[in-house]
Amino acid sequence: MTRRFEGDRLLVATHNQGKLEEIADLLKPYSVAVLGAAEMNLPEPEETGTLFVENARIKAHAAAQATGLPALSDDSGIEVDALDRAPGVYTADWAETETGRDFVLAMTKTHDLLLEKAASAPWTARFCCTLVLAWPDGHDEVFPGVMEGQVVWPMRGDQGHGYDPIFQPRGYDVTFGEMDRWEKNKISHRADAFAKFVASCFG
Ligand code: IMP
Repeated sequence: MTRRFEGDRLLVATHNQGKLEEIADLLKPYSVAVLGAAEMNLPEPEETGTLFVENARIKAHAAAQATGLPALSDDSGIEVDALDRAPGVYTADWAETETGRDFVLAMTKTHDLLLEKAASAPWTARFCCTLVLAWPDGHDEVFPGVMEGQVVWPMRGDQGHGYDPIFQPRGYDVTFGEMDRWEKNKISHRADAFAKFVASCFG
């Protein structure tokens, strides 16, 4: 049976400010205080999984064990069909540089690889998100979400984070980077996973 969330504080096991803000926005209607991993000084565990769910579990359980609080993690990324679903779980890694994450570099790499492969447009792709809520006693609940769309070039829009400027969701003629946060939060892969999370744990 699905376990419901009954506390008044929820730790969001991410060091990514963009994700934390999105999740805090999505949780606004529920009376729960949202804490971030950075403010709790939690280390970032190594993401050794090859599936979103594996990495989400690693992060949620590490945070729940470290704090004694229920912890919600998000592992997400973009899968590009013509790149055999890369970067997938390595989405953030494609942005790594010696001086921090550079998403313009990561988006340029994605586009360069599509050109190298002479992949024909539309470059179908999807954003995936797996949320895991883990409790300190080791129990967890898993909620997958997806938003289908395509990679577009050049980058468009300065809203959002990560790969938002090159992702155009299906049924829209703007990129996630051109949508305001409220609009994106209604339709995104994270909103999809979130709706399942809320229905199961708060419903
Ligand atoms: P991780 O889940 O921390 O491994 O990182 C996932 C990466 O996927 C993020 O750093 C972003 O680059 C990318 N990503 C996930 N969700 C989104 C989104 O909603 N917009 C843009 N990029 C995203």
